[in-house]
Amino acid sequence: MAGLDPALVSEVERETSELLSQLIRIDTSNPPGNETAVAAFMAAWFRGHGLEGEVVGEPADRASFVLRLEGRRSGPSLLLLAHEDVVPAGAADWQVPPFSGLIKDGYVWGRGAVDIKNLVAANAVAVRRLAAAGAPFDGTVTYACTADEESCTGGGVRWLLEHRPDLVRCDYVLNEGDGAFVPCGERHLFMLQSGEKGTAQFRLVVHGQAGHGSVPLRRGNAVLAAARIVEALAVHELPVVIDASSRDLVELLVEDPELRAGLRDAARARAALADLAERDPQLADMIEPLYGFAFSPTIVQSNSVAVNVLPTRVVLSVDCRMLAGHDEGEVEAAVRAALDGVDAEWELEWINVIRGNSSPYPTPLSQAIDAVLQRHVPNNVLANTQCVGFTDSHWFRAADPEVVAYNLDPHFEESHADVSARAHNVDERILVRDLAYQALFAEEVALELLRRIEDPRG
Ligand SMILES: [Zn+2]
Repeated sequence: MAGLDPALVSEVERETSELLSQLIRIDTSNPPGNETAVAAFMAAWFRGHGLEGEVVGEPADRASFVLRLEGRRSGPSLLLLAHEDVVPAGAADWQVPPFSGLIKDGYVWGRGAVDIKNLVAANAVAVRRLAAAGAPFDGTVTYACTADEESCTGGGVRWLLEHRPDLVRCDYVLNEGDGAFVPCGERHLFMLQSGEKGTAQFRLVVHGQAGHGSVPLRRGNAVLAAARIVEALAVHELPVVIDASSRDLVELLVEDPELRAGLRDAARARAALADLAERDPQLADMIEPLYGFAFSPTIVQSNSVAVNVLPTRVVLSVDCRMLAGHDEGEVEAAVRAALDGVDAEWELEWINVIRGNSSPYPTPLSQAIDAVLQRHVPNNVLANTQCVGFTDSHWFRAADPEVVAYNLDPHFEESHADVSARAHNVDERILVRDLAYQALFAEEVALELLRRIEDPRG
C-alpha cells in the first residue's frame, strides 16, 4: 500500500501481530471449536481499550463476540466479519508448532493466520482505532468474530441472525474472501466476491446382483456399473454459463486474443479451457468453477463384506457446486443426460443442496473499496467474481436479501499464488506487513463508506 506514514504502519504492525499471535495460541480447532475462549479474549481486549461488546451464542462453549460502534450521526451500517474457529492442524509436518503464534522472519505463524484469525485481529485494530479517533463517521461499524464457520452446525452467524438480529443487523457486510492480488501484467488484480456458488451434492445408488466373485463375467456387478457411471460423468460435456464473474477475469487475465475469445464463447469455452490449462494451470483452475457446475466423484462405497462377494449396492458420492441463479433440477437433468444409455441401474439421492446466492454489484461498498484501493494501489484492478466455496455471507443474504455482503480480505505484498495455498495447509502464516495493511484497509473502507467526518479542529 503506497502513501502511508511508515511510523503508522510499524505501529499497526506491532499491534496487529501481537494480537494475532495471542489469538493463534487459543486453539479453536473445529471440531470441537471452543470458540468462547476467543470471544471472551476479544471482549477483554476491547474492554482494555474502554469498549464494551457482547459475548453471545449457544452452546455456552461456542460463543461469538459482537461490538457495535456508533458514529457521530446516524447513517448506514457496516459489519466487519471474521470467524473464530480454524481447521485442525497436525503438528508433525509443520516447521513451527501450529498453535505457537510465533512471529519470525516477518511473518506470524500458525493455524488461522490467513483463515481467518488475521481478520479477527485486523478488524479489531481497525475498530479500536476508529473509536480512538472519536468514531468520525455517519452510521455504525459493527465488529463480529463468530463461531462455527468451518463445519457449520447452526451456531455462529446463523444463530446470531435468528436470535440476536439486533446485534448483527446491517446494510453492508465485509467478510473473508480470496483476497490476495493476482499479478496482471503491470497491474494488481483484486477479486471481490459478490456471490457464492451453491452446493448440489448427491449420491448415486447403483444396484447390482449378489454373486460369487469367482464368476467375474456374471452380469450385474455394481462396482463395474459404478465405474461406467464415473467414466460417463467425467467425459460428459456440461453446459457452460458465461456471466460477469468469468467474463471479467478472462478479460483481465488472458492476454492471447484468440484464447480470450474462445474462453468467452460458451460453445468453445471447454476446449479453450483445456488449452489454457496447458499454458497456465493456476488461471484455468480459477476460471473453470465460474463456468457453472461440474461433477467431482469423491467417495465410492460398496456393501460387499468380502472380496469374493459381488455387492448388491455401490454408493457413489459426487460433489457439485452451482452458480447463483441455478438449481438442482438442472444438475439432475445433466446427470440424466450424462448417464443416458449407460449400462447401469441407479437412482439419485441429494446429500446437501444450498442454492447459490449473490449481492448486487456495484454498490456504495464496492465503490468505497475501489476508492481505497485506488488511493494505495494505483495500478490495481477490482474484478467482480464469485466465491466457489461457502462462507458466512450466505446466512446474511438468506436472512435479508437487501444486505450487501462481499468477500474480500486483501493481501497487498504477497500474491494469490503465495497466500492461497496456505489456508487449511501446513506452515500457515501471514506477512506482518500485510496483516497491518488489512487493519488499515478495513479502517479506511469504513470511513469511505460511512463518509468520514472531518474534525473541524483539524
Ligand atoms: Zn475461513
